[in-house]
Amino acid sequence: MKSARERFVLAIAMQADEFPASTAATREEAMARAKSFTNSSGAYTQTALIGVLGCERRLIGSGAAWEGMLFLARDLQRRFGSWTEFANAVVGELDAISDGRANADLSWWLRDPASPWQHVAWNTDLADPLPILRMTCARCGHVRVRPWATAYVYCDYCAELVDFDAAFTRTATAGPGYEALVAELAPIVESALADHDIDEMTIAQHRLFDAWLDTCPLAVSIRVRRPDYRARFVDYLAEAETVAAFDAEAVRLRAEMEQSMRRLSIAGDRVAIEPFWKMVDAAFAHADRRDQLAQTHGIYEMHPDAASRELQQRVGWSMFAQAWAPFLDDGDREALLARCKLEPERTAVLAPTPITWMTCGTCTAHVMASSGATWMICDDCGDRIDVGSFSVCPSCHTLLARGHDTGICPICK
Ligand SMILES: [Zn+2]
Ligand SMILES: [Zn+2]
Ligand SMILES: [Zn+2]
Repeated sequence: MKSARERFVLAIAMQADEFPASTAATREEAMARAKSFTNSSGAYTQTALIGVLGCERRLIGSGAAWEGMLFLARDLQRRFGSWTEFANAVVGELDAISDGRANADLSWWLRDPASPWQHVAWNTDLADPLPILRMTCARCGHVRVRPWATAYVYCDYCAELVDFDAAFTRTATAGPGYEALVAELAPIVESALADHDIDEMTIAQHRLFDAWLDTCPLAVSIRVRRPDYRARFVDYLAEAETVAAFDAEAVRLRAEMEQSMRRLSIAGDRVAIEPFWKMVDAAFAHADRRDQLAQTHGIYEMHPDAASRELQQRVGWSMFAQAWAPFLDDGDREALLARCKLEPERTAVLAPTPITWMTCGTCTAHVMASSGATWMICDDCGDRIDVGSFSVCPSCHTLLARGHDTGICPICK
């Protein structure tokens, strides 16, 4: 199902299809012309261009064409108050440039019940869809506004894990060293499976995840810089993987999911929709089994951020939805968010809160603590530091936000 925003733009494009097509040869040319038409009074020229961007075979379905159509539609919507006003402007302009010979008549569009204009309001909201990434902390309700250093986004009022920012994974690819290790460990994994040797499998999974963390540090939490967190995170990942490797149902469902992924096809920036939804079904079936296993084997409790089951699931689906959203039309994007139970949120713009500069008691980095904050994750060393009840060093008077309090000032030692 298409979104209202999409239907509005297409309603203009379909009508524009009746006009002689423009001759833009490439997307870039069409886009450049689209932009040059804005703020001209040319309602007809803009409309014709929307038709060209949307309907010409070589441009249809491309993100750039959609961007241009939306750009022009927003401009038309701003300049006219209703479908009638818009139609009058188009007819007037067409008559003017043809010396009255065009005889344009848009009454069918304005009045016939079958006209797309009857089914979408002129004042349809054309704003961009809301971002998937969540900024509001589920525990304390504060909104993260400062930038973050890696994919795991933490609340800077209470240090709770808030969401996963998939933008950090786009550049993260496991290097050849990791691939070599996967190949090296493949026979060990296989024999562990054959002998049902859980210890051997766990050791192999530890080595794999440990090496993976080295190659993709941005794709995880900044906290992996702390050896204790890192060890617990590797334990958590390896345990979950080992349990799933010995569960016939999880293995079968993963194979089905992987097979459905191989059937996906992407043309331009759109994924073919039928195989996509089959893949989503397979991903959910696999995730359901993994969820059951995680509950019966106490995996959720091993999460090093002490995140709840709900939060761990939310973060997982957020990651999934962010990865696929750029390849979907609005309607499918919304359906995917609903399926993943991701409520998009419009982040409120807040008045700036007073801040206090402190020094991280673990690594001596400067830390900007918002007034009222209790705990934060230091963006430099990844330690969880107490910015609520900070201490002042009696010798150097530094304001220290302590992580693991050693009683020693890291500045004067
Ligand atoms: Zn919080
Ligand atoms: Zn630090
Ligand atoms: Zn000191």
